[in-house]
Amino acid sequence: MDNKGYVMSIFSFLLILPVFILLIVMVDVVGQENEIQQSTLNSHEILVVSQDVEVNSLIIGREVLRDESLKVINSGHPLSNSRKEIKDEFQQRMDLFCSRYPANGMEVKCEILRVDNSYDPFSVEFKSKITVEKGALKHKLNMSHNISLTNGSYPIYDPLPSVKCKTHGNMTIGGDRIVYGSSLAKYLESRGVKNFKAYENATSPLSIKKCPYDPYILHGNSKDLVNLKNCIENGFYHESSDGSCFLCRLEGKGVCSHYGMETFIIPAPSLSLSNNSSKAPSSSDHVIFNDTGDGTYSGQEILYFFDGKEYFKLYLDNSHRSKYGLPVC
Ligand SMILES: [Zn+2]
Ligand SMILES: [Zn+2]
Repeated sequence: MDNKGYVMSIFSFLLILPVFILLIVMVDVVGQENEIQQSTLNSHEILVVSQDVEVNSLIIGREVLRDESLKVINSGHPLSNSRKEIKDEFQQRMDLFCSRYPANGMEVKCEILRVDNSYDPFSVEFKSKITVEKGALKHKLNMSHNISLTNGSYPIYDPLPSVKCKTHGNMTIGGDRIVYGSSLAKYLESRGVKNFKAYENATSPLSIKKCPYDPYILHGNSKDLVNLKNCIENGFYHESSDGSCFLCRLEGKGVCSHYGMETFIIPAPSLSLSNNSSKAPSSSDHVIFNDTGDGTYSGQEILYFFDGKEYFKLYLDNSHRSKYGLPVC
């Protein structure tokens, strides 16, 4: 080979070199792209799973509230620490829910950190931490949600009447109302409350529904008290700083320190009109179920409806009359 030959092959090598370098760079770029695509896919999947867990935690949480309430209603035994018991049950159900994910090579956890009162007495708040991991990717999300007691595809029942009255006699359910029979009168009698007989065959709402007559003075708005009548017939609940909250109702407390709710307990209608100054325990449930000392005070009768045969009435003290816009006495 002469010198010319050497020069030619060095020259052709120099010509080919950039092609090699370009090929190596391209292979590397494709590899990186594959990695990026894979990690984009993974992170998209992780976000979808995390949202799935979040949405389902709201559904599962509401089921826990319903089931714990039914458990108390059926047994008549209150929970000793509703916040903890609901949190534990909620955690168990979330663990079960999350356990179906590892099949995708994914690790999913939802830790229930806390179950407690919400600022809204018609909701229960929970805090949770969702962690989703796949490969080198990890997604963490701290959440706080309110579970509504009133807005949902099924109602949530008030557990308090059962805890207070179940041991005092038969209670039945008629439509969406609790029919106390003699149990409520006997419960009041056992506490030495005067005029307990006024609550023989009384009724109160079964499920928790928020009253739309807001501001509450609208109840007494019209002369024939039609709003009050509608509120009672629908079994609505009202916000109340004296009434107990849902979580304390599960513990059988008629009153508590939290911002809570109240509803009316309605005496059975009567065939004759008693004199209008008759008195009996005031018909707010937090008055009737307040068994801490002398918590049950009396109220004066209000006739809110006459159907041509029977007189429909309740008893209210002046502070509740003012709250609902009814005439004070
Ligand atoms: Zn109302
Ligand atoms: Zn409470």
